[in-house]
Amino acid sequence: MKNSATTCPKCNIKMIHNSYNTYCKKGLSGVKIGKYICPLCKESIEEDRSFWENLKDSFFDLLNMIYQIMRDLHVSYKGIASMMELIVPRGKDTIFNAFCESVEKDREELGSLHRFLFL
Ligand SMILES: [Zn+2]
Repeated sequence: MKNSATTCPKCNIKMIHNSYNTYCKKGLSGVKIGKYICPLCKESIEEDRSFWENLKDSFFDLLNMIYQIMRDLHVSYKGIASMMELIVPRGKDTIFNAFCESVEKDREELGSLHRFLFL
């Protein structure tokens, strides 16, 4: 993977490192992905960033698992929301949407969470 990313796909010669692109996700720290430029044809490419996409996916999977476990332990949405704010300061609507998607839809509980988050 790394070798193919630093070799020009056209000329097959070693490319020159040429700064970074920074990717970040709100609430997560960013990553710097190297950019390379071919000294011959000026083709420019980026290092593989699928690891970053995978990291984001597994991070949000983990958050959803935390929601589920806390719900199984009968922690209130208010309690979960307070705790999640400590782990990752996400937007309140994001937290609310994630709850709706990942936990059982108890209308009364969701209503009280909504009041907690938006009032
Ligand atoms: Zn080239």
